[in-house]
Amino acid sequence: MPETIFSAIIRGEIPCHRVYEDDRVLAFLDINPLSEGHTLVIPKEPAVTFDELSEESAAALGRVLPRLCRAVVRATGAPAYNLLQNNGAGAHQAVMHVHVHIIPRYPDRPEGRAGLGLVWRPGALDAQAGAALAGRIAAAFSDGAAQA
Ligand code: 5GP
Repeated sequence: MPETIFSAIIRGEIPCHRVYEDDRVLAFLDINPLSEGHTLVIPKEPAVTFDELSEESAAALGRVLPRLCRAVVRATGAPAYNLLQNNGAGAHQAVMHVHVHIIPRYPDRPEGRAGLGLVWRPGALDAQAGAALAGRIAAAFSDGAAQA
């Protein structure tokens, strides 16, 4: 795994506005926030994408995320928020170390609207194709291919 800016932050070599830390997880404010309270939650384990994470690190992230979301909401008063987790350059990942964005949304603030743009263009799931695809994913899950 290549060295990233987040590795240096974990080691304390680059400063951050830390909001939470335990043995496996660090949370800090994003340096270029999309909105007030934009927080990054990262595992200390070096992994590029979420699928590479150990179950222990994933569990540690999942355990603390709801509490961190509550803390961000309470501290900012945001009425809504997005959790965003980008994997791969094609999915807008810029820092190649797993991270979850907590992005408060302020629909009543002009800058709140501009902070995160989502274009959602849903299709329609074909019943036959959907059954086949779900079967392939379920098979991949259970045949060991999805083991970390
Ligand atoms: P990505 O596009 O990879 O999901 O998002 C990476 C995020 O990391 C960006 O929102 C960016 O502002 C943030 N970031 C990049 N470098 C630093 C840094 O040195 N410190 C902090 N606090 N955030 C950073």
